[in-house]
Amino acid sequence: MKASLRWMNVIGPSSMRSRSTSFIGLGRMGHEMAYNLFSKQFAHANENRFVVCDAIPESAQRFCSNFVKQYPGANINIANTPEEATRASQTIITMLPSSPQILSVYHDGIIPTLRKLPADQAENTFCIDSTTLDVDVARSVAKGVAEARSQMVDAPVSGGVTGAKAATLAFLVGGTVAGFKQAQPILALMGQRIIHCGPSGAGLAAKICNNLILGVQQMVVGEAMLLGTKLGLDPAVLSSVISSSTGNCWSISVNNPVPHALPEKSPPCEREYEGGFATALMLKDMGLASNVAALAGCPVPLGQAAETLYAQMVEEQPELAQKDFSSVYKFLKQVMEEGKTIKA
Ligand code: NAD
Repeated sequence: MKASLRWMNVIGPSSMRSRSTSFIGLGRMGHEMAYNLFSKQFAHANENRFVVCDAIPESAQRFCSNFVKQYPGANINIANTPEEATRASQTIITMLPSSPQILSVYHDGIIPTLRKLPADQAENTFCIDSTTLDVDVARSVAKGVAEARSQMVDAPVSGGVTGAKAATLAFLVGGTVAGFKQAQPILALMGQRIIHCGPSGAGLAAKICNNLILGVQQMVVGEAMLLGTKLGLDPAVLSSVISSSTGNCWSISVNNPVPHALPEKSPPCEREYEGGFATALMLKDMGLASNVAALAGCPVPLGQAAETLYAQMVEEQPELAQKDFSSVYKFLKQVMEEGKTIKA
């Protein structure tokens, strides 16, 4: 696959637009999701066309090279901009870091391009955004897409990179019933559970509430494991006790932060906290929860305390920002050993 395909190649004749899907954002999640989606669509009908777009051109090139190696003859192209991707495809999926990137890709790229399309093409265009971002930003973007005569749903995911790779993600969908029905067969190629949470923004509201719990849960598990081992308990014994008691949760029984505490499993702590869900992303999600809670006038004191501590962790140990967020245990341990102060 050539580094950059020409504009006309990407667009193709307008009759091809209906058979084409664009995927914008080929990061840790998007790469795996696009791979599952395209490979299954290709298996279903090999005349389908695929378009990928990323702010880092090498990511799109790498994706295309891998894909054509696996599926020789696949019609896959690189769009250099979201405008190109929108002109090329009737279905557009975005998987970007957060609100600023979605604002830029939709308000500066996708929406103005939709406005310029002939009415029938705009009306047949469907956007799915799987990014975790602010609820009000998602709603404003969906409104802009609707005003440009197209449809959009928010469909953030749960399940992480492992779920993205295995196509077992849960999609939490916000939008109209018609939008949900249109999204379902597409999302089913990348995930297992597809839940209609309510109108536009509802998928994100559900995702943010889930991650509010998760961020606090992982932190308190780190605290309990640190306290228990300080009191002389074997981490494996303590984990086994909690896993079969009322303190049981995903953070202790699956994502345990202490090496060797789960002898039968292999959480990120066994690999120096590599892989998993980055602390920087959890910090972002705790911020999304604080923002939406402030707008709703809803108290989230534990969430705010956890957000402050994740922020301190990333500031004082930037190398933990891209590690799994269970490394908060490592941070707390270091705070204890060095006698540092916790800001939260
Ligand atoms: P990532 O940073 O690995 O990927 C984001 C991709 O978007 C990158 O390839 C980046 O180059 C691209 N991008 C950024 N700005 C762009 C632009 N303007 N135009 C085109 N491409 C652009 O992030 P990720 O881990 O894939 O996460 C994506 C989203 O999924 C985030 O909202 C995250 O919170 C959410 N999420 C992630 C996980 C996880 O385990 N990683 C789990 C659940 C949800």
